[in-house]
Amino acid sequence: MEAEEVLRTTFKEIGKEYGFDKVEAEFVAFKEFKVRWQRSYKWADFKVSDYLEDAPPEVIAGLCTSLFSKITGEDEGYSEDMCRWITAPTFSEYKQPLYLKRSRNLTRSHEGEKKDLEEAYKRLADMGLVEKDPSVHLTWTKESNIKKIGYCSVLMKVITISNVLDTDMIPDFVLDYCLYHELCHLIIGFDPSAKRHGEEFQKLEAKFPKRDEAEEWLKRLCLYL
Ligand SMILES: [Zn+2]
Repeated sequence: MEAEEVLRTTFKEIGKEYGFDKVEAEFVAFKEFKVRWQRSYKWADFKVSDYLEDAPPEVIAGLCTSLFSKITGEDEGYSEDMCRWITAPTFSEYKQPLYLKRSRNLTRSHEGEKKDLEEAYKRLADMGLVEKDPSVHLTWTKESNIKKIGYCSVLMKVITISNVLDTDMIPDFVLDYCLYHELCHLIIGFDPSAKRHGEEFQKLEAKFPKRDEAEEWLKRLCLYL
């Protein structure tokens, strides 16, 4: 059976168990990994990230059950099968190139005009703050993003740093701190139920020696992570 067919059939069948008699589902080429849906009383229409197109049937079924449980107010969270599948090394390995292609504001290079993210990564590793993971892709943005200067896709293992930091005006330790912040998201890993900058995150982030000084710098420049 074709992937789209599996998706449709699975959603229709599981939907029925939850009392939905008209269910539609299709794969959509979203940039980010996500699912969108619309629903009314007994009708629901799902748009599922096509990063799941080659997922085994039990992963699709698990996703579907978690979505209907969410819609009907039970919210079981993502199934174990699904979490295991999307956090397996092969997932980011296979999907990362497509994700990068879809993210148009990335240079897809760690080398900036003035600064090199790979060197920052190495400094963090030398300080013992992180272990270097060769599957992590570091990239600068093309256009300056000043509202948010760092972004991490945990599932795709892609860290993006805004090119506003690619200047000699910014000391290396400030850049290192920004990169470290995003790497902390990777270290904590995929956990849709956790707060983005929760307690565990803050503890980890506080290991950066000049954290307060770096934060001061960012505040002065009105830049935010
Ligand atoms: Zn963050």
